[in-house]
Amino acid sequence: MNSLDLFYGVFYRCFTVKPMALLVFPPVYDFAFYDMFVKPCGLLRIGQWLSDTGYEVELLNCLDYTDSAGVEIYGEVQRKPNGTGKVFRQIIEKPPVLKSVKRKYARYGIPRKTIEKRISHAHSDIILVGSGMTYWYPGVREVITAVKKVQPKTPVVLGGVYATLCTDHAEEQAGADFVVNGDGCAGLPAILQKLQLPVPKISYPGTQLLLKEGFLDAAAIRLHEGCPHRCSYCASEALCPKFRPGDGGELADEVFRIHNTLGIVNFAFYDDALLFKAETGIIPFLEKIIESGLKLNFFFPNGLHISFLTEEIARLMKKAGCKDLRFGFESINSEFQNEFGFKYSADMFPHAIDALRTAGFQDNDLAAYIMAGLPGQMPEEVEETIRTCADLKVRAFINEYSPIPKTALWEKSVSLSRFPIAEEPLCHNNSLFALQSDSFTVEDLRRLKRLALELTRGQND
Ligand code: SF4
Repeated sequence: MNSLDLFYGVFYRCFTVKPMALLVFPPVYDFAFYDMFVKPCGLLRIGQWLSDTGYEVELLNCLDYTDSAGVEIYGEVQRKPNGTGKVFRQIIEKPPVLKSVKRKYARYGIPRKTIEKRISHAHSDIILVGSGMTYWYPGVREVITAVKKVQPKTPVVLGGVYATLCTDHAEEQAGADFVVNGDGCAGLPAILQKLQLPVPKISYPGTQLLLKEGFLDAAAIRLHEGCPHRCSYCASEALCPKFRPGDGGELADEVFRIHNTLGIVNFAFYDDALLFKAETGIIPFLEKIIESGLKLNFFFPNGLHISFLTEEIARLMKKAGCKDLRFGFESINSEFQNEFGFKYSADMFPHAIDALRTAGFQDNDLAAYIMAGLPGQMPEEVEETIRTCADLKVRAFINEYSPIPKTALWEKSVSLSRFPIAEEPLCHNNSLFALQSDSFTVEDLRRLKRLALELTRGQND
């Protein structure tokens, strides 16, 4: 710590009585990363909760592509008007366990120096670090190492997806003082109490703290918590064991608040089951948005359920400004549904697409996620599903199966994988294709991805 930092710290302590919490959204380590509305939505809700309790709250968003030091080192990054795009990228050495993947590996995010400087200037009483994909944990470790270097006495709490799904690994490897797992911030009050910091007495809010750095050119929002389905490959239940429906009218008010305060027009839903409980959820939400007359855009990176889509919802979605609709189609094969989680019957898909076209959606607004590489799944099944999408003029995106701890398929995946997925979360990376086998090879996967691109999306997609 230099003398300026020391002076600032003393000054800060003398003139503020509020406890200070710093929220950190870590950088990402991966073979590829495209910012498809990746936002610190959960951290900002915790931020609102702490702010309502009297904390001063700051956010350090390591995926901030506007950071001036980042622009100076890496140059400007390409962004799209819809709020998606690239972030700063630095090619780095691949971890040995990922050597077999023939792609470049990179660190995505603001420069390390910026991270250290911001942590050092924050003079926090507590630092809360979020986490995303399990195999992004090197980013989590990087920021916690930075905290321990520049603010060694400040307690660090780690939460989020990696902390919940790989709790033991996080406790051993991440370097945090506390690891909380699970939904929201159930474990946080006990930690605050132990640290003799103010403990929130109010309930956990549905609103986010409106810090510009957490939003930039788009917002992530959530209507419901969790999912009523239990697909065996999905982490939804582990992350949120009980489905909790939200209120569409209240979420619309939250959208207006974000729009009026930060001027944001792009909103991405983080829901797992957005169209479920539509009468109190998505329908009143869309009606209120339409009634407002605001020109807003809504996106669905997590995918929507075909089975809950009705003509009324399709019509309201079109009117309210919904774009780039993506559906979890997964597979045309009915056996797939029986084995991995019954969500719909295959004939529902053409009906849903018809309803959307009747409502006015065009081909480039319609897309489906297809699963590939699940235990026992054959490439022919994936190809048939791609061809079904092509016949319906729906863009197809292949999601290669990536094994996730605490899901029903986990143990089977551990036994089938040729990689040490139980010991090393880096092996959950979908680029490694952990369940590759002689009957579903990496080359099969590449061919299917090319096929999906050629038949349904064109070269510019
Ligand atoms: S329907 Fe989607 S979110 Fe729900 S459990 Fe299945 S895959 Fe997960």
